Amino acid sequence: MDTIIDGYSSKVLVAYPTAINDPNDGPVFVRLCPVCGRFVKADDSVKCNIDGVPSKEPNATCKKHGRVRMDFYCWISDGWEE
Ligand SMILES: [Zn+2]
Repeated sequence: MDTIIDGYSSKVLVAYPTAINDPNDGPVFVRLCPVCGRFVKADDSVKCNIDGVPSKEPNATCKKHGRVRMDFYCWISDGWEE
């Protein structure tokens, strides 16, 4: 089902349950290039700091712009569901 969350289709959001203290929690990103808005290929995993905050490193690949960083959207625990 294509759920719309705050204007984003769930297909556009990608979640990484990488929180150290909770295997079901982690960051959710908007899977669009921050430069051109194209759909990007999200990495299989994202680097996170020790407290679970996603690092500032690129985490996706845009066909036009190469390595980019998807915008952080929310935490899985904020109520986002796949
Ligand atoms: Zn781009």
